[in-house]
Amino acid sequence: MATRAADLLTLTSQGLYCPAGDFHVDPMRPVDRALITHGHSDHARSGHGHVLATAETLAIMAVRYGEDFASGTQEAVLGEVMRIGRVQVTFVPAGHVLGSAQIVIEHGKCRLVVSGDYKRGRDPTCLPYEPVRCDVFITEATFGLPVFRHPDAGGEIDRLLTRLADNPERCVVVGAYALGKAQRVISEARHRGHTAPIYVHGALERLNTLYQEWGVDLGELRPATGASKAELAGHPQHAQATGFGRAVDSQHVVPPEVR
Ligand SMILES: [Zn+2]
Repeated sequence: MATRAADLLTLTSQGLYCPAGDFHVDPMRPVDRALITHGHSDHARSGHGHVLATAETLAIMAVRYGEDFASGTQEAVLGEVMRIGRVQVTFVPAGHVLGSAQIVIEHGKCRLVVSGDYKRGRDPTCLPYEPVRCDVFITEATFGLPVFRHPDAGGEIDRLLTRLADNPERCVVVGAYALGKAQRVISEARHRGHTAPIYVHGALERLNTLYQEWGVDLGELRPATGASKAELAGHPQHAQATGFGRAVDSQHVVPPEVR
């Protein structure tokens, strides 16, 4: 009998559940076996029995929740097909944040993709989104309405750097979510030629360090805390990124909490 998508993935009080594989995807409550798409806190939570995720996502969860965020962990290698119970599972790049992945679940001739969060635009801090041919595609649609049109990131960074150059007695303050958005803004600025130190809020430090350990070049970062007004002013090459405020991208509004 042909596999139906509805049999492959169902909705439980804990979230999306695959009965044939006996696992949840991005569960909202602690479960025995969780497959995690990426490190944002509305997808990755602590307290699960076993977590399967990319190495980067596991590292992010360890930074945010502590090394003991799960009883056991297993690294998912991108593109590698795994058998879990009666289904095949593959993690595929989602282009959202470092380590983010779509999760492809297959059984028989039925292929289902849980996208997690994803974006198709270029992001220098993570692998690009890879489209996967499938029967069912599960996506969030916070910014699905056509009214949402987000400008090109490079152009926005150019505007920021122009403003910085035009106001040498001031600094530019950028509010960005601590995981993903902050590192993308910094990286985009580096790619647009901004080489001067960037002052960052303490809430970003651990994740900035993690990104750099994974090979994302963020250039010279300095703590904003303790920097004098005189140090921040009058440096036309200086921008400041903080850990506060909300960052918006083409997928969703991220929660404001900062760990
Ligand atoms: Zn996300």
